[in-house]
Amino acid sequence: QTTKRAYNFNAGPSALPLEVLQKAQEELVDYNNTGMSIMEMSHRSKDYETVHNEALSRLKTLYAIPDNYEVLFLQGGASLQFTMVPMNFLSEGKKASYVMTGSWSEKAFKEAKLFGQAVEAASTKENKYRNIPTLNEIQFDENDAYVHITSNNTIYGTQWKEFPETGEVPLIADMSSDILSKEVDVSKFGIIYAGAQKNLGPSGVTVVIIRKDLLEKANTTIPTILKYTTHADNNSLYNTPPTFGIYMLGEVLKWVEAQGGLKAIEKNNDEKAKVIYDVIDQSNGFYKGHATLESRSLMNITFRVTDEELEKQFLAEAKEAGFIGLNGHRSVGGCRASAYNAVPFETCQALADFMVEFQNKHS
Ligand code: PLP
Repeated sequence: QTTKRAYNFNAGPSALPLEVLQKAQEELVDYNNTGMSIMEMSHRSKDYETVHNEALSRLKTLYAIPDNYEVLFLQGGASLQFTMVPMNFLSEGKKASYVMTGSWSEKAFKEAKLFGQAVEAASTKENKYRNIPTLNEIQFDENDAYVHITSNNTIYGTQWKEFPETGEVPLIADMSSDILSKEVDVSKFGIIYAGAQKNLGPSGVTVVIIRKDLLEKANTTIPTILKYTTHADNNSLYNTPPTFGIYMLGEVLKWVEAQGGLKAIEKNNDEKAKVIYDVIDQSNGFYKGHATLESRSLMNITFRVTDEELEKQFLAEAKEAGFIGLNGHRSVGGCRASAYNAVPFETCQALADFMVEFQNKHS
């Protein structure tokens, strides 16, 4: 009997690979012949420690993370990173530059202002966040504590294709919605952080990849639990970690390896997004993409049905046909198809077919 899976385009939490869910199901009540679920074990036990350390090393291998970086498993989501980054690296008299490419950049920026001076390095707000600024539009000072970017804008459906060169100034990226979707040269970044619930696993784990020299420069007069050094010094086992989430993350990483690694994943993501963007582009204006062509995200495909009344009907009929999560974010409206790693090509093809059919019926 085959498992019936939804056409899941949720923006987050989002689809997980079926194979991973099935493996977790098999192991749920008895992990490795221990007579216990991984959730029931001490985080200091041998079995759990193996899961924990293997997940860390798999992520290091997949991204070819250099030895001068620490990988941390934290909690509190990417939203806590909006606070931890400035709390650790900003203070009176220091300045950080934020590139504004959407609502998540705005949220990160707002937190930074609580700790020191935060300024806009560039913003595409006037263009309704339809694009990523060009690299030469980004302004920052050599003395800045860091430059912050959002690598993929989940709500507006834009994605950085190349990253700015910031020289000695650490580049910090919120990669929540495109982590593990393509190869990235980690050595360009001071910090990469991401909530797990899109490409990495269930919500509850936050991955932080941080260059070791930054740990030494971090503020020391902040709460213990909010210092990166606390977690780096304790192999992310300072307090009880989200053990089940980290186990799931490890299984997702094995799945990514089995797909052929990040290069293969990127190729799949390219093909998946293309079938949907092609429908939009060939619709003679029936559908309209939100993002400019050069800034389009492979993860979140944002679009409108140009006729507003038909748009409501489109979303209603899509729901009826079994497509989940196609409503745009409540702050912008319209439609959004999130095609993260675990969304199969066939699901994207099914949506593309549905869009063509809907257009044929209504034009
Ligand atoms: N940053 C980006 C780009 C996101 O897409 C999200 C959530 O969707 C967040 C941050 C917030 O993440 P969390 O809910 O893990 O705090």
